[in-house]
Amino acid sequence: MSSDVLTQFRAVFLGAPGAGKGTQAAQLVGEKKVLHISTGDMLRQHIADGSALGKQAAGFMEAGQLVPDELIISMVEQRLEQPDARSSWVLDGFPRTVAQAEALSSCLQGKQSGLSHVVYFPVPQDVLVKRLSGRWTCSGCGAIWNSQSKAPREAGVCDDCKGSLQQRKDDRPEAVSERLKVYLAQTEPLLDHYRAQGLLVEVDADRKPELVYEELLMVLNRELR
Ligand code: AMP
Repeated sequence: MSSDVLTQFRAVFLGAPGAGKGTQAAQLVGEKKVLHISTGDMLRQHIADGSALGKQAAGFMEAGQLVPDELIISMVEQRLEQPDARSSWVLDGFPRTVAQAEALSSCLQGKQSGLSHVVYFPVPQDVLVKRLSGRWTCSGCGAIWNSQSKAPREAGVCDDCKGSLQQRKDDRPEAVSERLKVYLAQTEPLLDHYRAQGLLVEVDADRKPELVYEELLMVLNRELR
């Protein structure tokens, strides 16, 4: 993939919380002019804005549970209607249930387009727990740091913008174990769903982010030929 533009790239990134979907999506988006649609980020923005959806979603999120399908599906459908979503995008954190996957597929059928890729980032459970509990997000620029794998130079301070680093409420230990349970019960079945459609490709994510990214580009390159 030598070009810095990906055309007609409509991808879903699948993986447990902490698999690194957001980190990989952010790098791809920065380099390849693809829109990053992260449902987690959209919901956190709704909460920060104090919107009705934010108020409905906050309790579920803090407890590590999924926001109900009907709320999240209409949020994503509206996002995909925006003019900037006509070309290439990566969905990070959606779908998370079979009902969401089916709603996405009907929505895309209505636009006479379909998914081009579903990339699954497998990571062993014990590594996920360590990663999530070491994750810190910059309150200024949103950069993600990790005390295990990508520590900031100064504890609690973002290297990029010097903003203060905060732990997400749902990265606290009680919420982490609930999120992993929810992932296994509700999201993992999507692997078979997309495998059966011949769309699923795997990129081993139990490695340093730069090695994961290298393989992601290789996989996409192969698939786009
Ligand atoms: P994330 O940043 O993707 O880990 O999402 C954080 C939280 O937002 C999740 O634990 C859920 O509570 C909620 N959330 C994000 N995406 C979805 C989705 N597709 N379906 C239901 N809840 C979601």
